[in-house]
Amino acid sequence: MRKCIGFFGGTFDPIHLGHLRLALELKQQLALDEMRLLPCYIPPHRASPSVDAQQRLTMLQLALNDCAELRWDARELQREKPSYTYDTLSELRAEFGEDASLSWCMGMDSFVTLDSWHRWQELAGLAHLVVVARPGWEIPVVGPVAQLIAQHRADVSEIHAKPAGKLVILEQRLLPISATEIRVQIQAGESPQFLIPDAVWKYIRVQGLYR
Ligand code: ATP
Repeated sequence: MRKCIGFFGGTFDPIHLGHLRLALELKQQLALDEMRLLPCYIPPHRASPSVDAQQRLTMLQLALNDCAELRWDARELQREKPSYTYDTLSELRAEFGEDASLSWCMGMDSFVTLDSWHRWQELAGLAHLVVVARPGWEIPVVGPVAQLIAQHRADVSEIHAKPAGKLVILEQRLLPISATEIRVQIQAGESPQFLIPDAVWKYIRVQGLYR
């Protein structure tokens, strides 16, 4: 049986229940053998001033401590420079082999900018692209991304049939939680409890993050 692995990238600044719930639902809906969350490197001038890459990773690790279904993958942070998804997927393809089904998952907000990504037209050759609709973001109907959709759009069931090359658009329910709002709340002295895992909130307080 072909192994099926999903990857969900993000800044996770901080990781919240919206990310975690979506990753788990995708794993279940796509019937993946494995689902990994990959924090991306953020250049120091763009990062939250009080939070470094190691702290974002620690929060992700704390969030996943009690969840055997999801894993973390720190490869983009270890490179200490912005990673191209193309490079990450090439590395993963070399690691998992030609036969494994790899799915790169992202929100529609990321997907609509796909044609500005490094070697974007080659991404579908390396993995399936799984796009989750996000309120406020429409499926592109004209332009290069719309053409890509027309060429590769497929049903979820096809993810298992091939190692790469399909584009799946899902209407998944998303919890209305935003990392930006959480950072603003904390800075204003408000509590984000019940929007992020308790262990992550405790870590943020002990470390004095996002103040
Ligand atoms: P912000 O809320 O500040 O925009 P973000 O949470 O969108 O931050 P990332 O951490 O980079 O930023 O998001 C990673 C991925 O998670 C993106 O593909 C994004 O579409 C998705 N995502 C963000 N918020 C949610 C949510 N509430 N539910 C499900 N997925 C989400």
